Amino acid sequence: MVEKYSLEILNRPDLFYQLINNMTDLVFLTKVNQDKSLSYVILNKPAKDLYGLTNESFGRPIEEVLPSNAYHIIKRKYEEAIEKKQPIKYEDMVIVSPLLQTNNHGIIYWESTITPVFNQDGVCTHLLAIVRNLTEQREKENEIQRIKDRLELVWNSVADVMFTFDKNEDIVSVNKAFEKLLGWKAEDLVKDKSISFIPEDDKEDLRKFIERVKNGETVTSHEVKRIPKSGEMIYFLGSFSPLYDQNGDWDGGVVAYKNITERKKYEDKLKELALHDPLTGFPNRTYFSQCLKIEMEKAKLSKLLLSVFALDIDHFKEINDTYGHDIGDEVLKEFAKRVKRAIRKNDFLARIGGDEFVILIPELTEKTKVVEMADRIQQCLGDEWIIANEKIKITSSIGISFYNQFDSEEKTLFKNADLALYEAKKKGRNNYQIYNDQKNG
Ligand code: GH3
Ligand code: MG
Repeated sequence: MVEKYSLEILNRPDLFYQLINNMTDLVFLTKVNQDKSLSYVILNKPAKDLYGLTNESFGRPIEEVLPSNAYHIIKRKYEEAIEKKQPIKYEDMVIVSPLLQTNNHGIIYWESTITPVFNQDGVCTHLLAIVRNLTEQREKENEIQRIKDRLELVWNSVADVMFTFDKNEDIVSVNKAFEKLLGWKAEDLVKDKSISFIPEDDKEDLRKFIERVKNGETVTSHEVKRIPKSGEMIYFLGSFSPLYDQNGDWDGGVVAYKNITERKKYEDKLKELALHDPLTGFPNRTYFSQCLKIEMEKAKLSKLLLSVFALDIDHFKEINDTYGHDIGDEVLKEFAKRVKRAIRKNDFLARIGGDEFVILIPELTEKTKVVEMADRIQQCLGDEWIIANEKIKITSSIGISFYNQFDSEEKTLFKNADLALYEAKKKGRNNYQIYNDQKNG
């Protein structure tokens, strides 16, 4: 049936030409003459239009009808097909005159298939060339390549560290800033799975970020710290965004880290300044209040005792008056050091004013322990003082209060220690007093 119909078409040249002229591919049927010269026998309309060929072109050697540059390529390819005795396929690119331009660049990409046709004697009598215009496809590919190149340029030019990871959470690519700042290359990280630039205490946060990214969320501006191949820890503001494959399924993520190490150091310095006494370097009143709140909460839960010591140097004005303010300053520094030596590691010493210090004593098992501590402090202060070659005698009065879970407010605890301190001063200084509700209340 099909064959019959095909034969009918061959008997109807009008139908045959309509068919081939409507093809988008270019069709060239070339006769191989006995003298080996080549001449066109059938050309469809798109083929004629390409080289401006007419019916006059039939029967004439193709070198007379084709532009010479096209002829040389075509001749070589035709000879190759004849020699190989099988169809050959090749691609070429031609720059056409502005009149024929089909795209902005005047470049046409062709894909040609040349099929040699042989007679019973094995002699090649014809060559059928089907030429397809690949310009649109190639232009698209070139455009994609251009976009890729630009993205790569941006990827590697940004100052922020960037990398992508896949569904298995393995790193796939890292940018130049990553290599520069963290020192690892993508291949190091892919080859050696034991390499981790995530510190232990940041791993849980990272897990949470990845879970959110898996759920399609973009996580922005989270402070993270990362370990470089060498050197100090680096602080970053991290953003994590999901990536999807062509089916819209989650396919990993892209991460950007902005280096905030300098800012962080500056902030830490400011925090340090805001919470510390510049003369002794010990915590100040603000820091003490913060710690007191936390320790009161802890004591409530642990049911362990919490005590506050208020210390004030005895007759400190006289030190200033006798030896000068600078020596007074040295005394304050030495005083802080000595008290620090007398207390436990977790006790918290702060300078809250001129010659006033406080100590926060958490996790006490028995009230009597404070007596030992106060004794130790006074013993330490009793050791000889030589400041700037001056032999100085320093004592301190100490007021002690305990945290009472039922009614103690932060201020009360502090006020009670101060009241006890006042008692100690009244009792002749160089002693300690424990605040007691009945006595002071
Ligand atoms: P008291 O036994 O009653 O405590 O007598 P005091 O002389 O120690 O009196 P008070 O504690 O009221 O005085 C503290 C003095 O500390 C007053 C002030 O001149 C001095 N002072 C405060 N800050 C500084 C400082 O930073 N450096 C020096 N050298 N002296 C300071
Ligand atoms: Mg004093």
